[in-house]
Amino acid sequence: MAIIIDGKATSAIIKEEVRVEAEQLKAEKGLTPGLAVIIVGENPASKVYVRNKHQSCIKAGMHSVVIEMPEDIAEETLLEEIAALNVDPTIHGILVQLPLPKHINEDKVLNAIVPEKDVDGFHPTNVGYMTIGTPTVLPCTPAGVIELLERYNIEISGKKCVVIGRSNIVGKPAALLLLAKNGTVTVCHSRTKDLAAVCREADILVVAIGKAKFVTADMVKPGAVVIDVGINRNEEGKLVGDVDFDAVEPIASAITPVPGGVGPMTIAMLMKNTLECAKATLK
Ligand code: NAD
Repeated sequence: MAIIIDGKATSAIIKEEVRVEAEQLKAEKGLTPGLAVIIVGENPASKVYVRNKHQSCIKAGMHSVVIEMPEDIAEETLLEEIAALNVDPTIHGILVQLPLPKHINEDKVLNAIVPEKDVDGFHPTNVGYMTIGTPTVLPCTPAGVIELLERYNIEISGKKCVVIGRSNIVGKPAALLLLAKNGTVTVCHSRTKDLAAVCREADILVVAIGKAKFVTADMVKPGAVVIDVGINRNEEGKLVGDVDFDAVEPIASAITPVPGGVGPMTIAMLMKNTLECAKATLK
């Protein structure tokens, strides 16, 4: 029986820590951390994510601004909005909800956010700092993975870590953060040969592919720690991860469920990043 790594409970603890610290910051320094979220268009999933971010901000005692823009907004108008938020002293974090409509250049938009307010950790400056190991704003989902491992006292140092997926928002940064914690890291992707054999080497297996129940029991070493980042909908419309939980759980030593694993950690880390960006303005 594996330990079930409870991301929902852990995220609630982190959010409460952030709320307490934000309250102190307000009382002692007169500073209220502020987050601005820009959403373009009517994507229903994006709307849910943005609403959750807004509500989490309010609960944490933070200032929250949601800027809704129509699907056909000109790229220039979006860039002007970001430029205004970049110099707004009440805003410490700016997040542009992805995906953006096809006519807008995503890289150009993300690069327009000043690195000091880049609470998603996607700006090349922050990616660079992360890569060389300088403390910086870390991308929320992979930072949430590390936070879960640490809060469950799972040693990373010296462990064989295998990450499946090499996206810029999950796989690559997860690999870099595990490396920074002294893991021995292998990154797998769609061209990896004999993926199952590579996965079976892992003491810690992090899965971020976006394919329901892709990781089966034969891909997991007995006693491994399995972190499932995937969020997929099965035929019945239920949320499922990239790992076949029922088959893998009996052989793993610890595993994250979906939902209730990595998912809730992303918003908790966003709150933490916003708080840290606000604190950094006092330095
Ligand atoms: P992506 O599509 O950008 O990247 C998928 C990666 O998986 C690619 O690098 C690809 O090489 C690899 N891959 C695909 N098929 C493979 C195969 N057969 N074998 C090996 N590797 C394969 O996806 P992403 O944005 O990194 O997201 C991955 C998953 O994580 C999705 O389910 C997404 O919904 C989820 N996600 C969750 C959160 C969260 O908050 N928990 C945040 C972001 C993404």
